[in-house]
Amino acid sequence: MNRRGFLCCTGVLAVTLAHPAGAAQKKNTKIQTKKPASPPAQENTRELELLGLRRPPLFGEGFNLRQSAADAFEAMRHAAKKDGFQLHSVSSFRGFDHQLTIWNRKFRQLRQQGFPAHDILWKIIQYSSIPGSSRHHWGTDLDIIDRNQPSPADPLLAEHFAAGGIYHPLYQWLLVNAPTYGFYEVYTNDPQRTGFAYEPWHWSYSELSIPFLQEFSRIDLFQHLKNSSMEGRQTLTPEIMRRYLAEWGFGVNPGLKA
Ligand SMILES: [Zn+2]
Repeated sequence: MNRRGFLCCTGVLAVTLAHPAGAAQKKNTKIQTKKPASPPAQENTRELELLGLRRPPLFGEGFNLRQSAADAFEAMRHAAKKDGFQLHSVSSFRGFDHQLTIWNRKFRQLRQQGFPAHDILWKIIQYSSIPGSSRHHWGTDLDIIDRNQPSPADPLLAEHFAAGGIYHPLYQWLLVNAPTYGFYEVYTNDPQRTGFAYEPWHWSYSELSIPFLQEFSRIDLFQHLKNSSMEGRQTLTPEIMRRYLAEWGFGVNPGLKA
């Protein structure tokens, strides 16, 4: 399943997107204003990392997370083991190209079925994030199952985590214990939450991902996608991006929004 992904945006981004003229104005300003001697190389690096375009240093055996998230997950895994669970990461870090492959494959399939490009966009984002917008790009999030259970063909189905499901005990354990290690469920089963479907397997290391969400919201994803090889990019508009960022990117557990 590819019910992953994310993004976010702030009013600042929305304004930028809604008024492309702002870009030209920004360009002018740039010409007239002297840039600092050492510009934001670091800032640019972070931007590329959050978009999945640059791989950050990653750690872990059987998973790939940033250092502090990896350490926390290891500690949680150790504690879970004592309680009879074998935490296993089905997916942790994923880059832009991975997400792009998923997206383009789905887009072409739906295109062949005759759906118009604009409809395809909304169909895909029911379950999969637009490339560049997945929280899996950040090295802070991962999908967790219990290896002590027999592995079903598709482990990432909500029914496995519901009462009577093979991962229900694991899910109950995580709800109680994961916050102790800094991990929080992202796509909760809250009817008020917008965006992606309920994903009881997806957890996020909040100490990093809360500031990352804010940083990500200031990135002009629209421009990055316009210049990418993403199928259907011509149908993107500032308004669509604004809605996607607000409802999908920020459609997360309130505890992960700062
Ligand atoms: Zn996930």
